[in-house]
Amino acid sequence: MLRKATRLEKIPPYLFMELRNKINKAKAAGVDVISLAIGDPVEPTPGPIIEELCRAAHDPANHRYPTDEEKGMAALRREVCRWYAGRYAAQVNPETECLILIGSKEGGHHFALAMVNPGDTVLVTDPGYPGYRPSIWLAGAEPYPVPMTAENGFLPDLRKIPADVARKAKAFYLNYPNNPTGAVATPEFLAQLVAFAREHSIAICYDNPYIDIVFDGARPLSILSIAGAKDVAVELNSFSKPFNMCGWRLGMAMGNPTAIAAMAQVKSNTDSGVFNAVQYAGIAALKLCAPEVEEMLRVYGRRRRLVADTLNSIGWKCAPPKGTFYLWLPTPDGRNSADFAAQLFERAHIVVAPGSAYGKFGEGYIRLSLTITDDRLEQAMDRLRKTFG
Ligand code: PLP
Repeated sequence: MLRKATRLEKIPPYLFMELRNKINKAKAAGVDVISLAIGDPVEPTPGPIIEELCRAAHDPANHRYPTDEEKGMAALRREVCRWYAGRYAAQVNPETECLILIGSKEGGHHFALAMVNPGDTVLVTDPGYPGYRPSIWLAGAEPYPVPMTAENGFLPDLRKIPADVARKAKAFYLNYPNNPTGAVATPEFLAQLVAFAREHSIAICYDNPYIDIVFDGARPLSILSIAGAKDVAVELNSFSKPFNMCGWRLGMAMGNPTAIAAMAQVKSNTDSGVFNAVQYAGIAALKLCAPEVEEMLRVYGRRRRLVADTLNSIGWKCAPPKGTFYLWLPTPDGRNSADFAAQLFERAHIVVAPGSAYGKFGEGYIRLSLTITDDRLEQAMDRLRKTFG
């Protein structure tokens, strides 16, 4: 009999696969399910990006392995660095500090393989994006949860990390604008984080795929705009969320040149890079589609107001977060998050992500995503009014 490798034993089933299975099963049984569970924009990718993909797909030069340049297409790396300098005041060297990825999820995984050793301790926020812990385990290391609480604006309190843990930690995974809580970081917090990482020689994996999705005067913030960050940090970013390109699988890692070279070494021994036509499409996104990003912000802004108004009108206190397209809501009367999510599904046929899936400190919350059409979101809000109003 075959047995899978023991390194997989700690890894739970991937949350969103489970949620997708649940949704598909209910749909197959004829239930009109509305999913507010997954962050996957429904609007199409902007036209200029699709046109560039089609043009490049017709060019036979792009049908060959995209491996001429180990870190990804030089023209795309240059465009990424121009975007970072112009939009976030962050200087990145396209030759040594930028690596093109098959989405930022891939980057988080390669970061662990590139930067931590078996048995190492890796700090990870709790609640945190469910992709981090499996990557840490697969690298043979052990995650150490750093709590994020509402009292602290869902920013980790670095002073509360025990001294012996800080001393032995090799890396720290975190992301702002934050999935799942919607919190945004401040430059002051990032400066403290960089100082903490420099003091303890900790490699920071700063995952920033929601950098542009901010509201109420919050400004897009890259850790690479903070002095000294490149000594310790890699920032991951992605085309998935701002350009409605989740299915295209295109992202980038930028920052500390040693870490970028190590990630490129892992990557070049794992896959053969991103289809060149998709990389050309990425250049078109950065050059031509900033206005479409602004338009999506208006759309999400409208939807988060609709949800907040609806919930407040039925007595479920809700303050929309400053970043991301998620709402992180305390369950009514502090109910158990999985039970409450199950109740929403049974009574209103609405699927949400239970907070406990993001870690121990996610208990007592649910996460709701705004990546659904306006019509369906309105129907979901009607169902909430009828069920809980
Ligand atoms: N990191 C965070 C915090 C995310 O929320 C997501 C997707 O939801 C990802 C990474 C994965 O993004 P990508 O599509 O770029 O792999």
